Amino acid sequence: MQKAEFLGGKKRICSSHMPRQHYQADAVVVWCFDKRCQNALLNFLGEKGLRAEDLIQAAGGLQPLTSPEKKEYREFMLMQVQASIALHKSPVVYLMAHSDCGKYGGLEKFGGNEDREFEYLMNEMDKAEQHLRPNLPPTVKIAKVFGDPEGVWQV
Ligand SMILES: [Zn+2]
Repeated sequence: MQKAEFLGGKKRICSSHMPRQHYQADAVVVWCFDKRCQNALLNFLGEKGLRAEDLIQAAGGLQPLTSPEKKEYREFMLMQVQASIALHKSPVVYLMAHSDCGKYGGLEKFGGNEDREFEYLMNEMDKAEQHLRPNLPPTVKIAKVFGDPEGVWQV
């Protein structure tokens, strides 16, 4: 197929600069796809000085790693993290969980009790780390972060 000829008849949706040069990632970041978490993500990346992050954005963030409805979801998430490490040498994995996450039933599931929710999500973060640790190179760090309307904390 002649790419230029084929694309010549198509509408370009936008212009972009997509470098051909590959990069080394600063981190692989597992984050919830909840739009409410996007500003927190940008602030987190800025504060951490992460400019070349491989972002794995999924419903529930780390939820598919810890409490997947199907075991294939966990395998997919693991494969994504491993791919970032293999392709871009990511030295650290950030695992994010956040308050009022729809994938966990929201704050409502915990009767509006933020302490109960936090304890549950901390346990989920520990479980995610336990699932990942044996499947990653020992030099790769795992860091857990928690987000709520007040900000993002390293926990
Ligand atoms: Zn969420």
